[in-house]
Amino acid sequence: MKVNYHTHCNYCDGKGEPREYVLEAINRSFSSLGFSSHAPLKEENDWTLKDYDVDNYLLEIKRLKEEFKNSINIYVGLEIDFYPDENRFDYFNKYNLDYSIGSVHMVKPKGSSVYYSVDESPEIFESVLTNLFSSSIELFTKEYYTTLRNMIIQGGFDILGHFDLIKKFNKGYKYFTEDEPWYREEVFQTLDLLEDTDIIVEMNTGALSRGVQDIPYPSKWILEECYRRNIKVCLNSDVHAPNNIECYFNESLDILRSCGFKELHTPFEVIDIRRKNG
Ligand SMILES: [Zn+2]
Ligand SMILES: [Zn+2]
Repeated sequence: MKVNYHTHCNYCDGKGEPREYVLEAINRSFSSLGFSSHAPLKEENDWTLKDYDVDNYLLEIKRLKEEFKNSINIYVGLEIDFYPDENRFDYFNKYNLDYSIGSVHMVKPKGSSVYYSVDESPEIFESVLTNLFSSSIELFTKEYYTTLRNMIIQGGFDILGHFDLIKKFNKGYKYFTEDEPWYREEVFQTLDLLEDTDIIVEMNTGALSRGVQDIPYPSKWILEECYRRNIKVCLNSDVHAPNNIECYFNESLDILRSCGFKELHTPFEVIDIRRKNG
């Protein structure tokens, strides 16, 4: 039973029409496919859905849901950015979504009125680190996890997107190692909060298909902590091109099994991932 609830098509920064993703998913025997375009932002940008396109997006996915209902379950959602000063989840949930992903792609340091990207490019990451956090990766990382915790406290979404996105440009542990006590403390504090919610943490393979990382989000030790704390987990590809729809899925399932997981949870199903004998 294959599913993916993190799909970007040409309504935001993905390549290809929604239909191409549906056909690819059916071809590969997926049982469910959830679309999660980036919800519009007030600031001009080239990676989110446009305000004027929200209704078209919802209508198109709902049409596909009907057209392919005998072959696959299709769900329409949004990947919604958390902004500390407003409730964007309340706002977008009014659109009658099937589900939503809550993500932190940007932080707004104290005293700043502007949001700064965590994951846009290595150059931007480096410049935010140098200019806003005095080159302290510890301060930058703490700001990221504080923002993530504030998002969890606000709530209003089903899946938490790419838990440790702050490590995107940390390939080869360029900026920090994950066994530093301050890093573990940030992760633990965040998991403590998740433990008391129904939020599903996604294992996200998007950075592998983009070639920027050689491990998925979140790192294996964090998944082990999720398992120990009974935090529900799903597996998503954060796909931006149809042929990456199940990139690194088999390897990820092995990682999940080795952490102890026997099942995955999505907003609509429970999936048994135990190996069948014979
Ligand atoms: Zn994202
Ligand atoms: Zn995404």
